[in-house]
Parts: sequence; structure tokens; C-alpha cells
Amino acid sequence: MPKCKACESLVGADQSTPAHAALKQTAQREYKSIGWHTGSLRNYVCGDCGAKWMLDIDKQDAHAGWAEDNA
Ligand SMILES: [Zn+2]
Repeated sequence: MPKCKACESLVGADQSTPAHAALKQTAQREYKSIGWHTGSLRNYVCGDCGAKWMLDIDKQDAHAGWAEDNA
């Protein structure tokens, strides 16, 4: 199924981008990143198109952000 427009806008989005209205959070966990800081990993599923997402929030990692969850 193709992604809905709201999900398309998350492709490559960084961690400051909020979840869109149709996303439902399914899981959240904290993790210890390399070194002393912690990050937060959240899983979402889209109620409109069924796309699965992971949002990695790690203020020490400029590349953290939205990624499709294909696992
Ligand atoms: Zn969607």
C-alpha cells in the first residue's frame, strides 16, 4: 500500500518533526546510547495507510529521526 501524504512527509524527517494525526504510538523505550546519554525510541503505525515508523530521539545524534520500520 502506498504511503499517505502525511507519511510521505516523514520520509527523511528529523527528530524535531512531530508525529502526524493518524499515527498511533505502539511502543516506546529508552536506550543507552554510546557514552553517557540516553535516547528514546518510539514505534508508530499509521491508521490511514498502515505504514510503520520508528522515531529515534537522541539529542546527541544529529542524524536521529524518522525511519520506516520494516522489521
Ligand atoms: Zn500514513
